[in-house]
Amino acid sequence: MEQAQRCLILFGAPGSGKGTQAKLLKDGLGWIHISTGDMLREHVAKQTPIGLEIEEKMRNGALVPDEMVNKLVEMRIDQPDCQTGFILDGYPRTVAQAELLVTLLSARGVTPVVIHLKVDYNIIVARLASRRVCSQCGSLYSVASNAPIVTANCDYCGGKLIRREDDAPETIWKRLNAFDNQTFPVLDYLKSAGFAAHEIDGSAGSPQVIMRKIAALVDDEPPTEARP
Ligand code: ADP
Repeated sequence: MEQAQRCLILFGAPGSGKGTQAKLLKDGLGWIHISTGDMLREHVAKQTPIGLEIEEKMRNGALVPDEMVNKLVEMRIDQPDCQTGFILDGYPRTVAQAELLVTLLSARGVTPVVIHLKVDYNIIVARLASRRVCSQCGSLYSVASNAPIVTANCDYCGGKLIRREDDAPETIWKRLNAFDNQTFPVLDYLKSAGFAAHEIDGSAGSPQVIMRKIAALVDDEPPTEARP
């Protein structure tokens, strides 16, 4: 009996730990990590036509147009490597994106596991201000709690550690406002589409402790049978 594709939606404010959790979970589950933020940053870095169009918005902490992100996600989840499962990090971020996703999932007979990582905004602001990212492999560091062993370089690949432009303190609140106004309603939309959202305190315990809670919830929701 063939099993349907699986999907984990990591929902939460910027800095709530979605990227960290996706990186910890993907290998154990054998699922693909889809970060729309990473995909969009790659377009900016390569200065593709999409990258040139969205560069300014991303620097200012604003969301990029729905049609653009929807297309990227739709194409990505159709790739053969996503057939077992995929983890959505940073998507859907608007109700229009959630509408498309629900259509895509129901066409594939997929019921997603939705995790809401909840973190107090004061903690988020402190986290993002001290976050550093490896410019080569994308590993995440905190100059406050997870400092690299060799300062200024990544412990894994030696790449230069940088601060994301949108982690500038004046931009962090703009991103949190975008989350409150444009993204938070997505949670109700997903619930109204019949998907239960599990709330997890994203500041209670180490990333590994939080990862195990999410993995247990994924295990609790068995895969459905694939649609013929
Ligand atoms: P964070 O969750 O910490 O804000 P991301 O890497 O997910 O970081 O997103 C960074 C930026 O990329 C966002 O501020 C926005 O400009 C853009 N972005 C990412 N995902 C989406 C999306 N689904 N819809 C619109 N814009 C997005």
